[in-house]
Amino acid sequence: MAAARRATMEENLERAVRLLRAARSAVALTGAGLSTESGIPDFRSPGGVWERFRPVEYQELLASHAARREHWRYKQATVPPMLAAKPNAAHVALAELEAAGRLRGVITQNIDALHQRAGSRRVLELHGTNLEAVCLQCDERVGIAAALAQLEAGHDVPSCGRCGGWLKPATVSFGQSLPAEVLREAATLAQQADGFLALGSSLLVNPAAALAGLAKRSGAVLIIVNLSETPYDEVADAVVRAKLAEVLPRLAAAVLAP
Ligand code: NAD
Repeated sequence: MAAARRATMEENLERAVRLLRAARSAVALTGAGLSTESGIPDFRSPGGVWERFRPVEYQELLASHAARREHWRYKQATVPPMLAAKPNAAHVALAELEAAGRLRGVITQNIDALHQRAGSRRVLELHGTNLEAVCLQCDERVGIAAALAQLEAGHDVPSCGRCGGWLKPATVSFGQSLPAEVLREAATLAQQADGFLALGSSLLVNPAAALAGLAKRSGAVLIIVNLSETPYDEVADAVVRAKLAEVLPRLAAAVLAP
């Protein structure tokens, strides 16, 4: 008996379009892969940041000034290029789907604020943002430019203008809990969704990745667009292996076509 033919990328894309057209409360989860075509490298690919810097744990940031200094050196190298990056066609496609009432919101693992800059309105940032810093002592938040300016002025770690405590970038560090309120809202969206798009995420980092499973168990169709395999491919209803900035505008145009 001849082996069943594997569906082509075009056929998988058509399937994704059909599923998303039928959805009434779709939600997207996005990862670093959505921004690689804006020139921001993801973490795990060759040439990614972990080849140049080691991740600093939250407990180390609280306990050690050397760790705080090391973390800010990493941010000093990676934040300015991120701020200079522009949203790509995939970010714009998601904003268009939301504006047309075809997407209830974007849950993102990204910290680059490119969804908001592309026009997305409801963006749940699971891992915080690189646009701000937060005081480790009093929780005061300041713009990242003010924190970086302190580094430029010769401070090795920026400090809080209100209480003098050490500032930390407002991203979620390894070993730090995700913002509870944001995670709760994301879980509710995933549970209520009838369509769940997992885009540019390796779906290896929990609890973000687990939202795909939660949505699927709660009855959503699961559509994955990612260049590499994910642990959720087997349970997904459509898997499109393609570059997001190329494929998402086509997906959105087909879903929005009359
Ligand atoms: P990841 O690096 O683990 O996975 C990214 C995935 O995207 C990979 O599976 C890769 O195959 C895929 N990919 C890369 N380019 C793609 C493209 N053009 N089209 C389709 N797929 C593409 O990233 P992650 O799972 O999102 O988790 C890493 C964590 O690192 C995130 O939680 C985030 O907090 C942080 N991070 C954020 C940014 C950002 O804000 N832009 C960048 C790097 C890392």
